[in-house]
Amino acid sequence: MSTGVRLSAVPAPGAAQAKISLQGVGLRYFTREAETEALSGISLDLAAGEFVSIIGQSGCGKSTLLSLIAGIMPATDGAVLVDGKPITGPSRRIGYMLQQDYLYEWRSILDNCILGAEIQGLDLAKARARAVQLLQKCALGDFLHHYPRQLSGGMRQRVALVRTLVTEPDVVLLDEPFSALDSQTRLAIADEVVDVLRDEGKTVILVTHDIGEAIAMTDRVIVLSRRPGRIRSEHRLQFAGYESKRPTPFVARSLPEFNEYFNMLWKELDVHVEG
Ligand code: ADP
Ligand code: MG
Repeated sequence: MSTGVRLSAVPAPGAAQAKISLQGVGLRYFTREAETEALSGISLDLAAGEFVSIIGQSGCGKSTLLSLIAGIMPATDGAVLVDGKPITGPSRRIGYMLQQDYLYEWRSILDNCILGAEIQGLDLAKARARAVQLLQKCALGDFLHHYPRQLSGGMRQRVALVRTLVTEPDVVLLDEPFSALDSQTRLAIADEVVDVLRDEGKTVILVTHDIGEAIAMTDRVIVLSRRPGRIRSEHRLQFAGYESKRPTPFVARSLPEFNEYFNMLWKELDVHVEG
């Protein structure tokens, strides 16, 4: 029975300036042996405070896209704008969290969290106070002086999130941040992470190959085609009874629309076992 899921194309944003605007973005990698076209013709606007997920098969250019937004490398075609201005390099306004937590084992949790602030030469007393506040918010207030090896995988990823947030970026890029975690931990951490990011008013791009994670955690899903990655479709997620406030990831998974979205996106991704 249909629950009336609306998986409609997203209308163009209105007059308000987009927080992030990708305009005809393309990227080719050049190596001595070959040229690889990783992305082609990507145009996408994100409003401030929006949570968008990007899904697509391995190798379709998801990480490449985040690297362009993070200013780690320039696009070979098109433009990437943040607050209407072209990205020219890494910026404090953009935080980037990776699949691996990259915590330093010899630094305490608190000291790991202020690493970015140290590198950027920010006020460390302020950074430390902010880190403590964020660690408390992530239920890690009792672990400030512990070391990474004393924490579980889910706790370590939360520390990595806090470290990303301590430097106060407006935009947070998450590249498969939970893929190293077991499925139960992933479910538990999703609620907490979304809660903190929403509360902090961040604009978020979540890259994942996990369709369920995309549906549960974000407002809009962008599906990329196989390489070169192009936008195959984009869908705003809607849940009946939750028009004004998004359900938490855990609740979203229990709603009837979840399965319908899942099946639709599964078909769109055209997943098949290669071999
Ligand atoms: P995804 O994150 O979706 O798995 P990537 O963005 O990592 O995909 O990679 C997209 C394509 O670009 C892949 O074919 C990959 O092999 C290629 N690629 C990624 N990084 C480089 C690089 N530094 N040099 C050459 N090719 C690369
Ligand atoms: Mg990747």
